[in-house]
Amino acid sequence: MEFFRVYGRVIGQLRDERALAIWLAVANVAVAALQFYEPVLFGKVVDLLTTSKGRPAEELWADAVALLALWAAIGLGGIIANMVVSLQADRMAHRRRLGAMARYFEHVLVLPFAFHNSQHSGRLMKVMLSGVDNLFGIWLSFFRENLATFVALFVMLPLSLFMNWRMGLLLIVLIVFFAISNAWIVSRTDRLQAKVEEHHSELASHAGDALGNVALIQSYVRLRAEAGELHRIIGQVLSAQFPVLNWWALLSVLTRAASTVTVILIFVMGTWLHTRGEASVGEIVSFMGFATMLIGRMEQASGFVSRVFFQMPVLAEFFRVLDTQSTVKERADARDVGRVRGEVEFDNVSFSYDGKRPALVDFNLRIPAGTKVALVGPTGAGKSTTLSLLHRMWDPQSGTIRIDGIDHREIRLDSLRRNIGVVFQESAMFYRSIGENLRIGKPDATQAEMEAAARLAEAHDFIALQPEGYATMVGERGATLSGGERQRLSIARALLKDPPILILDEATSALDSVTEARIQSALKTLMKGRTTLVIAHRLSTIRDADLVVVFERGRVVESGPYAELVARGGAFARLVATQQTGTESASSWRAKGGEKGVAAPWRRAAVRL
Ligand code: ADP
Repeated sequence: MEFFRVYGRVIGQLRDERALAIWLAVANVAVAALQFYEPVLFGKVVDLLTTSKGRPAEELWADAVALLALWAAIGLGGIIANMVVSLQADRMAHRRRLGAMARYFEHVLVLPFAFHNSQHSGRLMKVMLSGVDNLFGIWLSFFRENLATFVALFVMLPLSLFMNWRMGLLLIVLIVFFAISNAWIVSRTDRLQAKVEEHHSELASHAGDALGNVALIQSYVRLRAEAGELHRIIGQVLSAQFPVLNWWALLSVLTRAASTVTVILIFVMGTWLHTRGEASVGEIVSFMGFATMLIGRMEQASGFVSRVFFQMPVLAEFFRVLDTQSTVKERADARDVGRVRGEVEFDNVSFSYDGKRPALVDFNLRIPAGTKVALVGPTGAGKSTTLSLLHRMWDPQSGTIRIDGIDHREIRLDSLRRNIGVVFQESAMFYRSIGENLRIGKPDATQAEMEAAARLAEAHDFIALQPEGYATMVGERGATLSGGERQRLSIARALLKDPPILILDEATSALDSVTEARIQSALKTLMKGRTTLVIAHRLSTIRDADLVVVFERGRVVESGPYAELVARGGAFARLVATQQTGTESASSWRAKGGEKGVAAPWRRAAVRL
């Protein structure tokens, strides 16, 4: 059953502290078992008093004191042991909660773009936070309640049958009723609750999406529309949640009523047995103690099942994300190749995102180390796909990509990506200082190295003008900087990384001529001595390329040096003519490339210059 599978998996998450978890479980069982002795003592005291007639007072006192002392010792010992064990369990639950969060975080960060393109980050965040909170809650219940319930079922129930089988049978009927009614309500409501959770995730996606696009909402006066959409989803959450609540309220009424009826029946049966001389008052009192304890445990278990039931869809989604395997798998024997020379070869590479429509077909290209290749062609032709394949955002369905003659799947992913620098068209920035954003290129870079890279990237001057220089925060996704500034920072970052292979996705937006000149000069510095693959939108910037490759619908239609292709009068010559004459305005062509951005997530945000 799904419930037990998820529950087992949640408890299995404690495996990192297995020894302590087992120790705590055993200690909890011992403490719980100790508590069950109290009703027995209670019954013994009652029996002592009811049969005291005619016994000398001193003897009675001696027996009573012995019993009460034992009771006090067990009661107080139990409280102290319980406190010690609970404290350790709570500490462990806190540690494991943060551990699970770290595991999820690290796992999600290495999942490929294919996964991230299909999930909103707001949703992933929500799944992480509510997932670990639910894990935490179940762990606490496991130690505090579930084990005691387990002991109650497997120790108290046989014991009660042994004490009085007729009254014990009543308890068994009650427990069966609890189990059946819980299973019935779960089966009636599990699909409904999954729907509720879907709406909750939609809510998180929508809120995350809106909060990440405040500028868009304000400039397009979308506040009312976005808030309206949020309220619509809230409405869906509530109308899906209410029927589930009704069913569980019904369960609560049924189980409580059954408990009350059982207690009354036990009394009736006890009285009947007592009148026939088959049960003493003490036995009846002990049994009632047992019964109320057991019923309390059952009600607690029922509450726990309902709580976990509401959390199941969240936990299932949490585990689904954790189970998502990267489509770009690292081989067990993958190796670190150190710093490569930079020769790149595509050998008959074909790729399709959906397995149906080809994005790249039989692509062949050999790029000698240190040379510059420009990829050109209309939007959707396959240029970004080619570059994504090179640094293994995806793996091709067929063909091989080699770096220095080594199949790049034989290279460890971190080693491969350390050798490749990427300057995105829309430069990604962390919500951190300029210095920290630069240092991701080289974490141990000194201030002098960082400044030198920034100077080469024509970025030092504007950084120096920032209120706190290199320590200035750049806002979420670099929002406090212009597009040109962000680009120069990302060039400086790539310079610090100093990779032998470079992937450039040239900016599509029109830059003012001064910024453009600065970026071009920074890029020239960056490209020097590196194998460079550049997606060129402005054809004028690739005159010095060693090779120009023209793509159309995933296929190479032409390739050769710039001048040769122009002279040939083919597809490339037509592209150049289009940009020069402006028949189809160059900027509109470039803008199309900038807007699409499916294969290139760095194109998502609008460029601000
Ligand atoms: P270019 O960079 O030349 O504009 P792309 O390599 O981005 O072209 O796209 C090639 C083809 O693959 C296009 O048809 C595009 O719609 C499709 N495509 C790109 N990214 C994805 C993706 N993540 N999922 C599905 N299809 C995609």
